[in-house]
Amino acid sequence: MFDSLSDRLGGVFERLRGRGALSEADVRTAMREVRIALLEADVALPVARDFVEKVTEQAVGQNVLRSVTPGQQVVKIVHDALIDMLGSDTAELELGVTPPAVIMLVGLQGSGKTTTTAKLARLLAKSQGKKVMMASLDVNRPAAQEQLAVLGTQTDTVTLPIVAGQTPVEIARRALSSAKLQGFDVLMLDTAGRLHVDQALMDEMKAVADIATPAEILLVVDSLTGQDAVNVASSFSEQVPLTGVILTRMDGDARGGAALSMRAVTGKPIKFAGMGEKLDAIEPFHPKRVAGRILGMGDVVSLVERAAESIQEEDAERMASRLAKGQFDMNDLRSQLAQMRRMGGIGALAGMIPGMKKAQAAAENAGGDKVLLRFDAMITSMTPKERAKPELLNAKRKIRVAKGSGTTVQDVNKLLKMHQEMATAMKRLRKMGGLKGVLGMLG
Ligand code: GDP
Repeated sequence: MFDSLSDRLGGVFERLRGRGALSEADVRTAMREVRIALLEADVALPVARDFVEKVTEQAVGQNVLRSVTPGQQVVKIVHDALIDMLGSDTAELELGVTPPAVIMLVGLQGSGKTTTTAKLARLLAKSQGKKVMMASLDVNRPAAQEQLAVLGTQTDTVTLPIVAGQTPVEIARRALSSAKLQGFDVLMLDTAGRLHVDQALMDEMKAVADIATPAEILLVVDSLTGQDAVNVASSFSEQVPLTGVILTRMDGDARGGAALSMRAVTGKPIKFAGMGEKLDAIEPFHPKRVAGRILGMGDVVSLVERAAESIQEEDAERMASRLAKGQFDMNDLRSQLAQMRRMGGIGALAGMIPGMKKAQAAAENAGGDKVLLRFDAMITSMTPKERAKPELLNAKRKIRVAKGSGTTVQDVNKLLKMHQEMATAMKRLRKMGGLKGVLGMLG
């Protein structure tokens, strides 16, 4: 699983990693290769396109951290975007408050629904001590109900006694009242599949969901079916209120596209991965681990994380000691502006620092986040002396700074005003003694 995608991406990054500096063109070339690699792994086209767009935008606008190469930084950006695409955190099963919690499994025939029902029942009993009942609502496939009963025996799980001739809704009702009466914590409903998505199937799923009010409706899809899995998921999610996805046959050599597209297509997390035919072969789906495995570059990712952390710590410590002395010059303002950019622009800082609101409003009036870059350019055009003592900036010096940064004297005045306001705010902050906390939030 993911092997060929992993190899392809590895190749792209190897070419980037050795380089000292990356141009925008380098990043774009690399991202074109990433896009092809994703498509070859069967990732749905719109998903691949969004992914590459997002990564390119971030990689091009990125400040380069000291102590890592730009290529390493791109690896980290792709890594984070992969996690994002897969769904950030490991998703837990939702079991509601009043037992029995109903977990309904839906999907096409052969996707692994019945096996997965038994695997989950076993897992809930073993790892959480839950009392679990299973019921098969599959009246289409001959012997489907018997198959679940056999799996029940193998996993020591109670199954609802089979009554011939009942409809799925009738079986669901009977299962529900039986599970209630006998004090089961969880009721697993294995529903009927079809060979293809059709309206009768969707209607049946909706009718069962209406009466069983499941805490979870999990779509079971076969990861080996690639693009088809994505199409199935998209049809189901349009009609049935899914809460999550289970990918089966992740032990096989699927190219990974189904896994990578699922979250974007359904808007729901992948909760479990089926890893084999045996009844204990199921695992919670960990997006972080999967992203790590796809990139196979855990070392680079943690290197970049540490570099980013240490720089922010250095900045915060330096700021703290200067502020303790009541100092706030243009260098300090610049590092604050850089932090604002890192933290997602001015908007992200709204209201975090008392007294900052005014400076923020001023900056926003002057053109929002773009202004941060312009401020930075002006500070770059100052002499070290001017940076340390902004009051040196007389009319003549202001003209020079404006010219040097491609701005106007008015812009320079705005910057000076902002510096003034922030210096005042910082002094007030020092009096409040809440410096460490506020800097903590900034860092
Ligand atoms: P259903 O028609 O959706 O209920 O599918 P079944 O549960 O009957 O599964 C069909 C086949 O797939 C069975 O032979 C299962 O053993 C197999 N299967 C299910 N999940 C997995 C999995 O995660 N890995 C592998 N290798 N086989 C699986």
